[in-house]
Order: sequence, then C-alpha cells, then structure tokens
Amino acid sequence: MTQGIRVQPVGAVPDAVLLAVARALRSSYADTRVTVAGRRWRPPASAYRPGREQYRADLLLDWVCARHDGADAIVAIANADIYEPGYNFLFGLSYIGSGCALIALGHLDRSDNGAPVTRPRLGHRAAMIAIHELGHAYGLDHCKRRGCVMRYEDQVGPVDRERGQFCADCRSQLLA
Ligand SMILES: [Zn+2]
Ligand SMILES: [Zn+2]
Repeated sequence: MTQGIRVQPVGAVPDAVLLAVARALRSSYADTRVTVAGRRWRPPASAYRPGREQYRADLLLDWVCARHDGADAIVAIANADIYEPGYNFLFGLSYIGSGCALIALGHLDRSDNGAPVTRPRLGHRAAMIAIHELGHAYGLDHCKRRGCVMRYEDQVGPVDRERGQFCADCRSQLLA
C-alpha cells in the first residue's frame, strides 16, 4: 500500500462524483489518505479514436501512469467513453501492481435502456469501479467470491448492488 491515494479528474467530472469516490475509498482503504486533485487534466488527443468517439483505454492509462509522481497511488476518473481492442467498452482499467488506475463514466451514466441515471447512482458506480481498479493497482487479481469488490463485472446491475467490500482473502493480500 502507498501512503495515499490521489483522485484525479480527467475532463469535466461532476464534483459530486469526485466526492462520492473519495468517500468510498476512505472507507474501503481505511488507513490510506485520500486526496482529490483540484486541477482537472485534459485528456490527450493521441488516445482519442474519432471513428468510435472513444478513447483507447490502454493509451489513456499509460498517459495517467506517466503523469503521476509515484508517491501516492492514483485513480483517474475520466468523463469519457473508453474501449480496448476486443471490447466494445470498459468501466475502467489498471495494470496489476502499477499504482495507477483509470475509470471512465462513459458507460456508467445510463441504465441498460439508455436513460440517464441520478448523480448518487453515478457516484456509487464510479466509487465501486474505483475501489476495484485500485485493487488491481495494489496487486490484486480478479476474485470469484460473491460480494467481493474484486469480482469481474461488465454490467451495471451488479455494480449497483456492490458494497465496496473485499473478501477476507483479498483483504489479507492487500495488507500483506
Ligand atoms: Zn478488474
Ligand atoms: Zn475477493
């Protein structure tokens, strides 16, 4: 674990979402200081794919990793849609043990029928994905246990029901 976690907005991320993420991270990573960066980063055009109106998740994550100083872990929250070759979209991305993580609001801000969701629901979803991706950034892999935040989810329904809890195994790995 690092000394702290930095929450970094990329693009116009609502303050309510940043605060919801910070609050949830303080609860799930209890002994870690969580700060929210005041200055928003503008996402790099080099990672944008105009034909898809999406950012390449890996390029955006590489850019986040390169910009952060390494003392704290970083979770960047992008008000954007991201994808990787082979996937239509992703909720977030991190490399195991890298200390940096990316989440994207592009597929969290609507329900399955396309209707926009409320700010509290968007904040909850962003928070759950942030806890999950930071888990990867701290070295955790996916976990199959029901109720563990490290379960792989690619639909918003299960994310809505998550509570941000690590199972006993994942928690002990985090503290190791
Ligand atoms: Zn994952
Ligand atoms: Zn687990």
